[in-house]
Amino acid sequence: MACKQFDRVAQFLNLPEKTQAIIKWPQRSLSVTFPVKMDSGEVRMFSGYRVQHHLALGPTKGGIRFDPDVTLGEISALAMWMSWKCALVGLPFGGAKGGVCCQPAEMSKKELEGLTRRYTQELIPFIGPQKDIPAPDIGTDEQIMAWMMDTYSMQVGYPVPGVVTGKPVTIGGTLGRKEATGKGVAFLVKKITELLKLPGPLRVIIQGFGNVGSVSACQLVKDGAVLVGVSDSSAALYNPKGINYFQLLEYKEKTGRLAGFPEADEMDGVELLCQHCDVLIPAAKERVINEVVAEKLRCRILAEGANGPTTPEADHILEERKEIFIIPDILCNSGGVIVSYFEWVQDMQSYFWSEAEVFNALCRILSGALDSIMQFSHENKVSTRMAALSLGIKKVAEAKEMRGVFP
Ligand code: GLU
Repeated sequence: MACKQFDRVAQFLNLPEKTQAIIKWPQRSLSVTFPVKMDSGEVRMFSGYRVQHHLALGPTKGGIRFDPDVTLGEISALAMWMSWKCALVGLPFGGAKGGVCCQPAEMSKKELEGLTRRYTQELIPFIGPQKDIPAPDIGTDEQIMAWMMDTYSMQVGYPVPGVVTGKPVTIGGTLGRKEATGKGVAFLVKKITELLKLPGPLRVIIQGFGNVGSVSACQLVKDGAVLVGVSDSSAALYNPKGINYFQLLEYKEKTGRLAGFPEADEMDGVELLCQHCDVLIPAAKERVINEVVAEKLRCRILAEGANGPTTPEADHILEERKEIFIIPDILCNSGGVIVSYFEWVQDMQSYFWSEAEVFNALCRILSGALDSIMQFSHENKVSTRMAALSLGIKKVAEAKEMRGVFP
């Protein structure tokens, strides 16, 4: 899917074949297998990966995913999207991604710590503040980043906060990183709502209630929106009169799942995506909007909180159905990596910013990137996704061409 998108954009941009080949393939891919002592006494083997897509613009940057669907192919695609994302919003990074194939929800804290430390140990020669900087993604959080930072620092012999972002604030994390992706999604939704002159209150459906989904929901509700549908891996909930976000959050924190929440009806997850709403936010995994779903969508704005939620086939359908405005993933969820960049800068300078400084700088970058996409899309008569990808890919291509081929 990532390659298909790339080929289409490369053709559109008329990139020389040599440049296409140079920027399409991941520069470095590491595949590791390592043992972890489980609580039962058993020693279990796990497979992990880290892919660095390109290093033309600076060190590489991207999250670490702990999930049973992790494969080298998935991680490579996600690394490629990180490249276009960082370039689009002007960060001095290439894209990377990592992951371990595991079921974090079924592991104890001790097992997760063992897995994180052993995986980090394998990555030591591959990562570093000037080489490659991991961050949270699906199934990982501040605690995991703290263990990664500690493992790396113990190896080199001094504290290296800049080796990961998304750390707890007490050990060199930045204020606002945890909320950054969701707040960025809500900020962009607000901008597009104004552009399209949609009357409020906005009716919102969110697929996924992890960090991105729940913070987006929280911010949109605070801005006056009505949450009519929400889903996680346990259930899809729908209530056209509105779901009380704060009661829902309390219920999820207590039970660990959305299933059984009394103030809404449960429905099929795919059906939920197709309900009538102003804003649909896929905020979980890839490929949930396929060609079947794309035909049936009844939203005005598709805000892609997840990476790669829409397949190229679905994209063709949505390009025909001009009534749906797509905020493409590499812009929509870029708040996370933008604030990661701020965290890295603060770590390098040992000088920390206020939360207001972080959010003002975030909004400035998001607004600028949105304006460039709108302008490119208008001037070249292409979709917002084609515009966003073109801007990102063009920048990487220019950097590669300027640097030339070594030796
Ligand atoms: N995992 C996030 C993403 O997909 C954040 C990456 C980062 O902060 O480096 O954009």
